[in-house]
Amino acid sequence: MAYLSDPKETIAILQKYHFAFQKKFGQNFLIDAHVLDKITDAAGVTDEDVVLEIGPGIGTMTQVLCERAKEVIAVEIDRNLIPILAEDTCRAYDNLTIINDDILRTDIDALVRERGGRPIKVVANLPYYITTPIVMGLLEKHIPVQNITVMVQREVAERMQAKPGSKDYGALSLAVQYYADTYIAAYVPPNCFMPRPGVGSAVIRLTLLEKPPVEVKDEAVLFAVIRAAFAQRRKMLVNSLAGSAELGCTKEAAAAALASAGLPETVRGEALTLAQFAELANLLS
Ligand code: SAM
Repeated sequence: MAYLSDPKETIAILQKYHFAFQKKFGQNFLIDAHVLDKITDAAGVTDEDVVLEIGPGIGTMTQVLCERAKEVIAVEIDRNLIPILAEDTCRAYDNLTIINDDILRTDIDALVRERGGRPIKVVANLPYYITTPIVMGLLEKHIPVQNITVMVQREVAERMQAKPGSKDYGALSLAVQYYADTYIAAYVPPNCFMPRPGVGSAVIRLTLLEKPPVEVKDEAVLFAVIRAAFAQRRKMLVNSLAGSAELGCTKEAAAAALASAGLPETVRGEALTLAQFAELANLLS
C-alpha cells in the first residue's frame, strides 16, 4: 500500500482527485513520516486504544493510526475528502469509521459511550482556525479522554504550556492547566506540510488529570475571575475584577479578597498562579 507520508504519494492523490485545498478548512497536509511518528509516539497509541482523529484530510496520519490502534474514528468536515479516504487511501482498514461532520457539532461523548465508555485518545493535526474551541470543548465537556495530542500553531502550544510571569501566560494557559498536564513533544517547521503554513507549528500533548490541581467552590467563578484578569492584561487586578460585569463585585470587595489572599493591591493577573486564582475565586464565590 502507498503511504502518504511520502510526498510523491500525496501529490499523486491530489492530482488523481483534482483536489483543491480549501483555506477556510485550514488544510495543510503532513508530508513527513518522522513527524507522524513523533505525534503517534507522544500519544502512546497502542492496539488497545480507540483514537479519535479530527480532520483526517487525505488520510496521511489516519494510515499510521489505523495500523497502531484498535479502532480509529475520523471526523472530517470536507465532503470532497470522504471518497478519497473511504475508497482509496484508507480502504484497506477495517478498524476505521469515517464521519463526515463538523467536529464542533459531533457528539463525541456518544461515540465514546457506544464503544463502552473507556477513555479514548484524541490525535490530530488540527485546523488552526478552530484550535481553541476544539481543545476547550473536549476539556470542558468532561469527555472521557486519556490524552489529546495535537499539532497546533507553535505560539498556541507555548500559550497552553506557559507559566506565570511569561508573556505567553494567559486565560488559555490557566484553562488548559486546570484540566491537563502539558508537554510539547516537537516543534515542526512549515516545510513538513503541503501547502506550507505561514506559521511554525508544535505538537502538544495534554494528559487529562483525574481531578483538577486546585479545589474551587464554583468553577464558573474561577473562569470568570481568569477572564476578567486577562481581558486587559496591563490593568491592575483589583480594577479588572471590579470592572467585570460577569463577577458583579465592588472595588472594595475585590480589594478585600486580594488582601485576604495575601496579594498586593497593585498586582496584575499575569503574576498569579492557578492556585492563587482559585483562592481568589473562593473568596469571591
Ligand atoms: N490530518 C491531515 C494531515 O495531517 O495531513 C489533515 C490536517 S489539516 C491541518 C486539517 C483537517 O481538518 C483538514 O482535512 C480539514 O478539512 C479538516 N477540518 C477543518 N475544519 C474541520 C471541522 N470543523 N471538523 C472536522 N474537520 C475539519
